[in-house]
Amino acid sequence: MQLTTATIEQLDWDKMDGLLPCTVQHPLTGEVLMLGYMNRDAVSASLESAKVTFYSRSKQRLWTKGESSGNVLQLHGIYADCDNDALLVQAIPHGPTCHLGTRSCFAEAPAPLLQQLDELLASRKDADPEHSYTAKLFAAGVKRAAQKVGEEGVEVALAAAVRDQKELVNESADLLYHLLVVLQASDTNLEAVLRVLQQRRS
Ligand code: AMP
Ligand code: ZN
Ligand code: ZN
Ligand code: ZN
Repeated sequence: MQLTTATIEQLDWDKMDGLLPCTVQHPLTGEVLMLGYMNRDAVSASLESAKVTFYSRSKQRLWTKGESSGNVLQLHGIYADCDNDALLVQAIPHGPTCHLGTRSCFAEAPAPLLQQLDELLASRKDADPEHSYTAKLFAAGVKRAAQKVGEEGVEVALAAAVRDQKELVNESADLLYHLLVVLQASDTNLEAVLRVLQQRRS
């Protein structure tokens, strides 16, 4: 169930003393950003301000994430689980979500695969071209990466046309990899593409 101010009372507030655990997830990449707790007022405040607001057990008051750091979480939606005793919040982070400066509080956990690859590729921009194919592509300039995208795109098309499913899957992996490289070489990234796809959907 997606929460609105009208459905707050349908949550199981009695189970845990008026507090529900709340997982925050990036709506585009799927990355889990942090865990907090919400009471009724925190849910209302989040819906009204469109900034994710928790009940802080240590501060014993409502806490709008980013209130002092500026690293707010811009609310996209709040969803209850199957038995209405846990919340999933989707929100776009502005700056690092963790107070330790990492994007996620679960910084040790692997990010979603394509995002991981995107970050790995970005880190290869200043790696040694002798030891990394990706670094070599970056060193060769954006036109080389652009040419590879063209080649891999044609290979994908040919594999699909001759109905070679195994080849299609392999060439698609090549295409995705080179697409991420050409985006990075052009100083943009996967997230910008996901934003466009998201805008087209709504
Ligand atoms: P902020 O809400 O980002 O202005 O941070 C204010 C304070 O809240 C910080 O000094 C931390 O004590 C705490 N805090 C901020 N972000 C987190 C987080 N992701 N998880 C737990 N505590 C946090
Ligand atoms: Zn549950
Ligand atoms: Zn943290
Ligand atoms: Zn290929």
